Amino acid sequence: MSNCKYIFVTGGVTSSLGKGIVASSLAVLLQGRGLRVTIQKLDPYLNVDPGTLNPYEHGECFVTNDGAETDLDLGHYERFLSVPMSKRNNVTTGSVYEKIIKRERKGDFLGKTVQVIPHVTNEIKNRITALASKNQDVIITEIGGTVGDIESLPYIETVRQLKFEKGSDAIVIHLTLVPYLSATEELKTKPTQHSVKNLLQLGVQPDVLVCRAEINLGKDLKNKIALFCNVNSDSVIESIDASTIYDVPLLLSKQKLDLVVLEKLGYKNIKRLNIKKWNDFLIKLKNPTKKVKIAIVGKYVELKDAYKSISESLIHGGVFNNCEVKIKWVHSEDVKSKSVANIFRNCSGIVVAPGFGERGISGKLITIQYARTKNISFLGICLGMQMAVVEFARNVIGLKTAHSTEINAKTKYPVIDLMQNQKVLLNKGGTMRLGSYKCKLLNKKSKTFNAYKKDLIEERHRHRYEFNNDFLDEFKKSDMRFVGLNPESGLVEILELKNHKWFVGVQFHPEYKSTVTNPHPLFKSFIKSTILKK
Ligand code: GLN
Repeated sequence: MSNCKYIFVTGGVTSSLGKGIVASSLAVLLQGRGLRVTIQKLDPYLNVDPGTLNPYEHGECFVTNDGAETDLDLGHYERFLSVPMSKRNNVTTGSVYEKIIKRERKGDFLGKTVQVIPHVTNEIKNRITALASKNQDVIITEIGGTVGDIESLPYIETVRQLKFEKGSDAIVIHLTLVPYLSATEELKTKPTQHSVKNLLQLGVQPDVLVCRAEINLGKDLKNKIALFCNVNSDSVIESIDASTIYDVPLLLSKQKLDLVVLEKLGYKNIKRLNIKKWNDFLIKLKNPTKKVKIAIVGKYVELKDAYKSISESLIHGGVFNNCEVKIKWVHSEDVKSKSVANIFRNCSGIVVAPGFGERGISGKLITIQYARTKNISFLGICLGMQMAVVEFARNVIGLKTAHSTEINAKTKYPVIDLMQNQKVLLNKGGTMRLGSYKCKLLNKKSKTFNAYKKDLIEERHRHRYEFNNDFLDEFKKSDMRFVGLNPESGLVEILELKNHKWFVGVQFHPEYKSTVTNPHPLFKSFIKSTILKK
């Protein structure tokens, strides 16, 4: 039997208040008090997973070791906690209904009317309590959306039921906004009062309020909010805009959020807070001795969240090297032969991002050629690696019309092609090569071996296309080295260029595995190469 405690995090007033960061920050503090914590996200939309969503809709799709395509908040959870997430850490309404409807068809509910309460709420409840185990002390469950949304009603109802069942083993933290009116120079608490009323109408009394605000709330305002919302004033915590998300755990701990939460959950003999590794990271982050500019080239750069894990991994790699990383966002459609030199003028490293489809491909190819010929550190991730193959095939090997069959199905030289087992698939959702696979590093002198310092690694994938091994011979005689292969299938996972400062293409996504206390070896090595003098 597990004695897990439950913390639910709901949001009010508006979306985008940073529930994920608050939940992750609290988790870091509880970890720092010696507890084993995991976090889960419940998303109220009807997609079975966010894998089929355009990044413009929903930002990056984060992939777990077990191959789940999940919300980008799971990336924050992993980066903050250094604990791997799994399929079970992300639930969508689509996945809940999918399961219930399958069971209904099977006859599991024969004779009964299948309803939101209890069938949907029971399924949600199962998904929450399924995370409980004897290896877990606290489960933090973040409810996506905003209280009052039609879509999130079944989730709030489940929270109400669980809170009733679990008594003091479950609490609710409600995140709200306290807007500042510059005309009258004051903070307004009314939206917070109303959003708590909304929650109360649904039968849920929050235990703690975290209030996002541009300036300090002050004691009087905290007391006022406490009075109107039935919480203690020490349970009204402010969350002021921070210069970096990695400051948030400290800002919350200064107001004793962790202690308030632990006391409410009935913990006695609370351990001293130990977040030394986190603090060391912050000190280095804030006191860099060097600075580099790195370009991220992609077609969704208007929405930085589409590349969240990459930009955070670059920061982690920078901190490891005592180096501030300034990111230059480059839209792949803007890169033309004429503009390329100017665009990358001050960049000492270039990342060509993952992606799908034709838009922006030409700019990616021009970028890669530039990085290759000008000896600029280059990291190509997934589609970025595939385009490095195409660029090299065309401009070095001489296969002038080489392409990926994703972009040109009829190309004479399909150097990147659909994987064999993908050719028979009809459904788009959840059918890519997903999750963690082994990769054998073949060359002890390679940049990648030097970074990882071991010859068997595991990395996460999300793709349908791969290097076409029919072209291996053409590449064998060239400077492009395939230095990492999948040991079972022989798929090319890593390429490097000989006679280049640092040119690495990876079929996998290293950005999914970089964390604050464990920055990823490839990003550490990539940033290091950008600091070295040319
Ligand atoms: N579109 C490419 C593929 O499916 C690359 C995917 C990616 O960059 N994640 O193989």
